Amino acid sequence: MQMESVRIVIVGAGVAGISAARELKKRGFRDVKILEASNRVGGRVLTKQYGPHIVELGAQWIHGQGENPIYKLAKANNLVNDTGDDSSSEESDNEAQYFTQFGEQIEGKIARDVTTVMNKLYIEGDRFYREGLPVDEGMLSVGSFFRRRFLDYLAACDDQPDRVSLKKGVFDSYVRFNMVDNGCDTMDEVCIKHWGCYLEYEGSQRDVELKHGYQPVLDLLVEDVQSDWIHFDKPVKSIQYNQDDPVSLKQQDLSSPVNAASCAKTSPVKVVCEDGDEFNADHVIVTSSLGFLKENSESFFQPPLPGVKTNALKRLKFGTVNKVYLEFEKPFWDENYDIILCWLENQPFTLSCIDSESISAKCPWYKDILSFDVLDKLPNVLEMWISGKSAVTMETVPDAELQAVVIEILRRFTNNANIPNPVKMTRTYWSGTPYILGSYSYLPVGASEKDICDLADPVPCQKNPLVLFAGEATSPHHFSTVHGAFSSGVREAMRLSILYGGKV
Ligand SMILES: Cc1cc2nc3c(=O)[nH]c(=O)nc-3n(C[C@H](O)[C@H](O)[C@H](O)COP(=O)(O)OP(=O)(O)OC[C@H]3O[C@@H](n4cnc5c(N)ncnc54)[C@H](O)[C@@H]3O)c2cc1C
Repeated sequence: MQMESVRIVIVGAGVAGISAARELKKRGFRDVKILEASNRVGGRVLTKQYGPHIVELGAQWIHGQGENPIYKLAKANNLVNDTGDDSSSEESDNEAQYFTQFGEQIEGKIARDVTTVMNKLYIEGDRFYREGLPVDEGMLSVGSFFRRRFLDYLAACDDQPDRVSLKKGVFDSYVRFNMVDNGCDTMDEVCIKHWGCYLEYEGSQRDVELKHGYQPVLDLLVEDVQSDWIHFDKPVKSIQYNQDDPVSLKQQDLSSPVNAASCAKTSPVKVVCEDGDEFNADHVIVTSSLGFLKENSESFFQPPLPGVKTNALKRLKFGTVNKVYLEFEKPFWDENYDIILCWLENQPFTLSCIDSESISAKCPWYKDILSFDVLDKLPNVLEMWISGKSAVTMETVPDAELQAVVIEILRRFTNNANIPNPVKMTRTYWSGTPYILGSYSYLPVGASEKDICDLADPVPCQKNPLVLFAGEATSPHHFSTVHGAFSSGVREAMRLSILYGGKV
């Protein structure tokens, strides 16, 4: 069968789906359809116009430089804030000020000391995977590893109790930072043995800022895809694939006109949409999020996925990270410093702005707020970050209650009762976004890189890849990122290209 006549359906027009389509086009495939449930491309990349500037409701930074394909694309098109070599890129991380729930700003030296310890722990934590170091039974998670090592450090310091308490407060903010970074409920879930499985790219910066946000990067990717390939508002309900067909198209004698004709007629895959439309295909590339697959795989795939895949789906985890943008008439904060919240241990804290029946009183989600970050281009706006179950709970909190809570938190932590109410609030709902259902994937205790590879494997088998899988969660070393999603799309397009005789 000629590449031009191979029928390929891609489920999802996020970065993985668009990147797969782009690569398929480059490699000569012409019969490609992308079925997207929503009315836009991008999925978890969602740049929103905000006056003359933008805010990123989803992905915000390019993680890493060097060979990162998204960095290379953005840099080649003058979309990152840098002047040449990787080391001179504008650093997106601001300095931070750490505040306790009692309105005390923690001395810079204390915060720096804890930062130094944490930086060492990150390197040490990576070594379990990279060097195969044995993991202690009582220290299977990143959370327990951090805690144990941090307590060792405190014991060696011999500080006064007050200073210990403040250091613990800063440490606690680092734990919440890592919860946001991993999208998890607690760091006690995240596997220390596979912590180093996520690979950083070369370069001086971990987080690179985009001049105009992710939208222009997305536009560049979409530019290379035929616009009539993309079908919006087309949620896919199920994928029926022919598990018993042992003969892949590749294995048939395609020079025979009989085989060529029968190939054209057989439809190893049928993609059924919620609106009743059906698409026959030779292959389907599924790029739905891990969250969607975890919830829906049983009814989505007919026949059901093999055990190895469903086990991987069960083991891998998908968490929620949310943001709230608060715009004020004018800044009341120091523009050079993000505001980081540090909860001192075992100290009572209640909010006066909420009644006992409110969601926030019953479930104090606000204790997982990480920070209020300053934004260079939006001087009147603070960006609040929260992760895990609390981020999911926050989605259920009405606007008025949410605003009252965050403003009281800001007032109490910064010891500034005069902070006014914001003039505008914009919030995300990633857990409640249909067909996405969360933010990104991570490797919990009990899961491994093999689960990611199993999830990425096509079904029924490698030789007969009827249903292929892409998306950030299928990237063994770059899961949870835009570049991981991008590379996974390329990987699956190449798989099909090679199947039909294309070059590697
Ligand atoms: C708050 C937040 C912050 C982030 N920050 C960063 C960051 O700074 N840097 C970074 O690199 N990454 C970041 N990420 C992660 C990054 O956005 C994702 O890893 C990446 O965009 C995932 O792309 P994807 O194509 O795999 O999946 P998605 O973006 O989820 O795309 C899948 C698409 O498939 C569609 N779909 C799903 N099921 C169906 C169906 N049944 N029928 C039809 N369509 C369907 C969905 O609507 C969606 O459009 C962040 C994510 C979030 C939420």
